[in-house]
Amino acid sequence: MSRPRIDALLMMQEGMETVTRESIQALQLKKLNALLGREKARGGFYRELPERLESLDELAFLPFTTEEELAANAPGLLLCSQGDIQRVLSDATSGTTGAAKRVFYTEGDCARTVELFMAGLGELILPGSVTFIGFPFSGPYGLGDLIARAVENLGARPLKPGPSLSYGELGRLLAEERPDTFVGMPVQLLSLLRVCGRGSLLRALVSGDACPEAVLQGCEALLGSRLFPHYGSREMALGGAICCPAHEGMHLRENHVIAEIVDEAGRPLPPGETGELVITTIGMEAMPLIRYRTGDYTRILPGPCPCGSEVLRLDRVRRKEGTEMAALDEALFSLPFVADYRAERRDGRLRLSVLTCGEGELPDLDAEIRRRPVRPEDGPLYTGKRKVVEL
Ligand SMILES: [Zn+2]
Repeated sequence: MSRPRIDALLMMQEGMETVTRESIQALQLKKLNALLGREKARGGFYRELPERLESLDELAFLPFTTEEELAANAPGLLLCSQGDIQRVLSDATSGTTGAAKRVFYTEGDCARTVELFMAGLGELILPGSVTFIGFPFSGPYGLGDLIARAVENLGARPLKPGPSLSYGELGRLLAEERPDTFVGMPVQLLSLLRVCGRGSLLRALVSGDACPEAVLQGCEALLGSRLFPHYGSREMALGGAICCPAHEGMHLRENHVIAEIVDEAGRPLPPGETGELVITTIGMEAMPLIRYRTGDYTRILPGPCPCGSEVLRLDRVRRKEGTEMAALDEALFSLPFVADYRAERRDGRLRLSVLTCGEGELPDLDAEIRRRPVRPEDGPLYTGKRKVVEL
């Protein structure tokens, strides 16, 4: 059997000879201690933490870094000079402080993310093929651009429509360019398949938002192949965990990220139990974070992967505040005639606007429901993470 791509990636990036739990943890401890030592020496944001740990188990005794702290202290968290910054991603809506959360990357951070994307995309992209990229193209080193670089490095051609085309435009693009691979958000894919048909598409990688079971099953049935779900966030330089041919969880880039799962009180949970994902980004050059609470909920799958890799795997990931949307997604997308819907709440009353691509009865939900057939000029009702919009 060939070597799992995630193992090959760690060997290439770190010069490791074997990728086992022991060798991964030894590397993580070494990188974590190097980070702690640098922070102590420069009097950085984490200067109050110990200068070194004897084992990774001691990490659980260090304090968390919260989203609010990240928003308030971004320049203090920066480990490189401003001149080395290749890209800044900011999010004006995050946190309760009103400050924008900003995450910085160096060229090296971006390059290692492209290598991770190549390992993930290499499972489903063939040289000479055409890949549809539905993520936003927000300029150099944005998510769409990094994926396009990985696709080109694999010898394939990226199409860059982004997330905002209408179904009419999408249908024409699919017919003219005949992509065989889709890379984008889960519901974006399901809507495209239901409204425009599968066309030339054979395989898909989904990321950028939770993938509800009904959406996963709907996509796989229409595509006729298993989906490749991925996970990433800004704090992990946009790439976090990739799917392997076993399709049993997503392998985390453990040479750059130490993952912990904690309960509501912040206590560590063992593999197999679901809680909040906490990350220590030992491999990020510009802005490493220690015990950052992601607000994402998942579990670590116990044991080695059927693909042969011992690199840790995350199960499906969901935002905590997405719980209500998740229930609506399961109820609505399990119906094959639902193309897309938007959920809004005004004065405490839930309102659903549903676009349909066929006949059928909607479930009895405690909401005001409006429905109409989808038109060619309609586009996606969300271009980012899906949630109930409070008006
Ligand atoms: Zn695997």
